[in-house]
Amino acid sequence: MNLLEIKNLTANIEDKQVLKGINLTIKPGEVHAIMGPNGSGKSTLSKVIAGHPAYAVTGGEVLYDINFQMKNLLDLETDERAKEGVFLAMQYPIEVPGVSNFKFLQTSLNSILRHQGSTEMEDPEFRVFLKEKMKIVQMREDFLDRAVNVGFSGGEKKRNEILQMAVLSPRLAILDETDSGLDIDALRIVADGVNKLRNKNNAILLITHYQRLLDYIKPDYVHVLANGQIIETGDASLALKLEERGYDWLVQ
Ligand code: ADP
Ligand code: MG
Repeated sequence: MNLLEIKNLTANIEDKQVLKGINLTIKPGEVHAIMGPNGSGKSTLSKVIAGHPAYAVTGGEVLYDINFQMKNLLDLETDERAKEGVFLAMQYPIEVPGVSNFKFLQTSLNSILRHQGSTEMEDPEFRVFLKEKMKIVQMREDFLDRAVNVGFSGGEKKRNEILQMAVLSPRLAILDETDSGLDIDALRIVADGVNKLRNKNNAILLITHYQRLLDYIKPDYVHVLANGQIIETGDASLALKLEERGYDWLVQ
């Protein structure tokens, strides 16, 4: 059974058509990378899947396995998608002044647990749980009491996104340029974190500009998104070819 089936998806931002018929199928356990020139619609695709309100879907569907039935995610509110295990690590993580990282993560996880009919985690239990997760991204404990992303460096914000992923254990994780702006050590930490969280039940959609991330996180498929459409799909070797030759040979 597929986890995600995107069919002929078209979407606009501010009356400008950005997605021009996207087709993409993802099975549980797979890692798909999306590469492509700037402005081709990669972030738009990630936000449309997650349910960002600024984007208007004009056609197509985004089917997603919910309890063994393919349901159209586009019919669900953003928070409902999150509760069903759709997670987006944004290209530009937002700061949330006044809300501690600890509370933010706890509230997010508890709303998912509540939705699943599971017992919510009180502070002491959650702190123990969170400490384990923080090891995955090698984050210091003092980051928990700071406001979400406020004053975090670029790399710390990206690591914090992976911490969120570790806490929420999504079934579909979309990582939008989580590697950009990272030095080589931070890149390794982020990639190791993602690899630890990979399993046969979840899937990862990695949006990246750089082949180097794919040295650490081996994708099953690589897609090239250009001008709102997927114009090429291949295996991991496609990323190497793009590194060498750029996009021009594909974008005619
Ligand atoms: P990518 O992530 O592939 O670089 P984006 O999805 O961010 O591309 O952007 C696709 C296109 O949509 C670009 O031409 C961009 O300028 C435009 N776009 C994105 N967001 C907005 C917005 N809020 N208002 C107007 N145009 C936008
Ligand atoms: Mg982008």
